[in-house]
Formats: sequence, structure tokens, C-alpha cells
Amino acid sequence: MTKTLKTRLATILIAGSILFFSSITLFPSGNATEELYDVVVLNGRVMDPESNLDAVRNLGIRRGKIQTITTKPIKGRAVVDAKGLVVAPGFIDLHVHDMDDEHHRAQAMDGVTTALELEIGTADIDQWYAEREGKTLINYGASIGHVPVRMVVMKDPGTFVPSGDAARRPATEVEIAEIKRLIELGLKRGAVAVGFGINYTAAASHGEIIEMFRVASKFRASCHVHMRYPGVKEPMNAVAAFEEVVAAAAITGAPLHVVHITSMAFDDTPRVLEMVREARSRGMDITTECYPYTAGMTRLDSAIFDGDWQGQLGIDYQDLQWVATGERLTAESFARYRKEGGMVALHSMKPEIVRRAIADPLTMIASDGILKDGKGHPRAAGTYSRILGYYVRETKTLTLMDALRKITLMPAQRLEGRVPTMKNKGRLRPGSDADLTIFDAERVTDKATYSEPGRYSEGIKFVLLNGVAVVRDGQLQVGVNPGRAVRAPIQ
Ligand SMILES: [Zn+2]
Repeated sequence: MTKTLKTRLATILIAGSILFFSSITLFPSGNATEELYDVVVLNGRVMDPESNLDAVRNLGIRRGKIQTITTKPIKGRAVVDAKGLVVAPGFIDLHVHDMDDEHHRAQAMDGVTTALELEIGTADIDQWYAEREGKTLINYGASIGHVPVRMVVMKDPGTFVPSGDAARRPATEVEIAEIKRLIELGLKRGAVAVGFGINYTAAASHGEIIEMFRVASKFRASCHVHMRYPGVKEPMNAVAAFEEVVAAAAITGAPLHVVHITSMAFDDTPRVLEMVREARSRGMDITTECYPYTAGMTRLDSAIFDGDWQGQLGIDYQDLQWVATGERLTAESFARYRKEGGMVALHSMKPEIVRRAIADPLTMIASDGILKDGKGHPRAAGTYSRILGYYVRETKTLTLMDALRKITLMPAQRLEGRVPTMKNKGRLRPGSDADLTIFDAERVTDKATYSEPGRYSEGIKFVLLNGVAVVRDGQLQVGVNPGRAVRAPIQ
């Protein structure tokens, strides 16, 4: 067959498939289809933090990938009119908990296309991914978690974080070996990273933590760490806690990612950020994140409230808010609810400290979101719109491009050493995944509050995953599950 004939035949076949199977999006590329895209996004302000492109462009999508970004007119079978809107890479959240459909919907309405549970993680990677395959609105992924693995090995009765032995008893050598084995297994099965909540496993020795970093290093997996101590009070404070994990990273070579730095270091946040900067300047692979809120949230029955927590955290009963009812606690209700177990908000951070952390070029933004049956922390549903609305537009803490860098490119880069597919996320260029968040920069606003944490953000107009809309004209789409696994190669 001659080349011309082949091309003609292909043209006829493709024309036929468009005619009769117009819902099919997968068809071979060829000259005849060059000009017809599956989806085109027209006349938007395209902002890409990798190339620093910030200009009105048309964007053509085919087979779930960005094919072209151009000033020329282009045509597609579906058209998104993005005039007056910002077209950005889909937002990537490195720190999410308890992901289910309710949470995913709230995150999609906040512009998130990829939500990853990297801090606590899971004890069983295969099961975690199998439960979600083909069933999720947005992309998903998890770490193998030191916390849940330790809970399994030490038979802890806690849910989410330990409430028994895994929190309060040093592991035996046999148990440490078993925890290591399960973490290694998780990494072989494609865990994105290794998660740590040392503050929740307070009896884990420094030696145990080093052992886990050794395993992570072998697999080039970043360690996403909730550090051992919060607060500013010497000698057991966030500065010392940071020294522990920097030492573990330096000794083992494992990449380190310190989670929610503001809710660990409080007023010492600028000091710890300076330590991150200095360690990086000496060639260490260390990154960090924060969320745009002044209250933290955790379980009241966790080890964080063992001992002198008031002295350690610099807060008292009235700074604790019981999530189920919204009430502030007293010594009496603290004792009662701690026995019962449940989530509590800790009003512990100064607005100026949070603002400085967000403004720092080092920090990524990650939600640490928790949302279940409408209860939780507003950061689950509001983090990204709060950055774009309150911190970019209203207080000018960040430029829009710098904000986008912290929520798209930087999280993708954090993971791409271990998860090569992340090289196709967090940026807009031909060949990258068509995960897009298209929003009205003048109106984007978070609506979630401590009393109504599930309220959707406003101003996010379109959210596309692999070219499929999950938000269209500001409305959540039902019956679509285009989310895909973000997973490291399985060995
Ligand atoms: Zn945490």
C-alpha cells in the first residue's frame, strides 16, 4: 500500500468513526484529525508556572493530553469558553485524609484534580488502590504509612491514628523489623512516598525512625513527616523535631517533606523555614508545606494530648473546639470527649505567622483536609480558593503565578523522582495531562467555615481531568469518574 492510499483509508475510517461513534474519544492521530480536538479551551488567560507563560491562548486536548497551546483558532468537538478566566494546571494536594466521594466533590469544586494521602497513608497499598480504581471523581494516591503499619504490627485499636500501644510503647527489634518489611512491601507495590506522624507514635525511638528513612532512601521515596514535637517550648519543640528528621535525611539520603510547618512550629515557623532553606543550600532535598488556616485539627484521643499539652502547644481548653458540636472545651468536657474520641480543632496559630509561611517561596500549599458527613475542617473544601481569593486577590500576599506554582508545579516536582508520571502534571505544555482548573480570578472565594466546613468554594468554573469535565460552568458533574491512580512503578 502506498503512503497516500494508507492516509486516505485512515481518513475514511476516522471520518466514519466520528460519524457513527461520536462519543468515542480515542482514535488514531493523522493529518485528517490534526485540526479537530476532543476538547478545546478557547481565549483563556493561560498561566503555566513552569514556562511562566501568562497570555491569552487556545488550548487543544486530544486523548486526555494537551496537544497544543496556540494563538491560532482551533476547533474541537467540545468547547470550553474561557474568556475572562484563568486556565491553570489542575491543583495537586499532597496532603488529604479520609478520601471519599463527599471529600472529592468538595475538592473538585475547590479546583483540585489530584488528591494524595501522603502523611498518614495506608498500611496496604494494593487494597487502597483497588478500592478506588475507576470509582473516583479526581486522581488519587497514597503513601505507605509508618503510622498505620505500626498500628497493624502492634495491634493498636485506634482509628486513623493510634490510641494504644502504637502510640505509647517502644517497638521491639522484632516489631521494628516487621514494620520495615511492610513499608518495603508497600514501596514495591507502588506507594507514592513514605508517611510519618511521629507525634502520633511518640514512643517510636529515634533509631526506629532512622530505620524507616533507610527503607525510603532505597526506593527514592520522599518521607512526608508530621514531626515529633509541636510548639516552641525547649527542649522538645519543632526546632528539635526538625533536627531529628534533617539528621535522618542526611544520614540515609532519603528526601524529606515536612508537612504543615505552621501547625508544628507556631511562632518558630520563620526559624524552621530558615533551617529548611539552609539545609537545601547544602544540597539536601528538603521541602515543606502549609495550609491557609490558623487552626489545626486532630483527634482528641491521640497522643498529642498526653502530658503537658497546654505548655507544649501554648494553648488552653478554650482554644479547643469539638468538631461534632462546635463547642469550645472546658477541663470537664475535655476529659469526657477524650474518652469518647473524636476530632478537635486547635486554634493555635497567629494570622501573621500563617501569612509569612504562605508568602515564603519555599512552601507548597496542601490542605491536610478532613471531611466526613459535613463535619471536619474548612481546609478540606476551601484551601485552594482561600489561597487564590484571600491570599492573592484580597491581601496580595502572593502573586497569582507564585500561588499557582505552590499548588501545581512544586507538588508535582516533589514526587516526580519516584513517580515519573508526575512530570506530566502541574504544568501546561503539549504532552502534559489535560488536568485543568479554570477559574474566575476576580471572584474565586472559599465558603467553608469551622461551623460549615463542607461548603463548596465559588469561582472555580471548569475542572477537567484527562480532558473530562468534573466541574462545568461552576456545577459539579455527576456520573463521571475520570480519576486515575497516581502510583509509583510496581516492582
Ligand atoms: Zn499532621
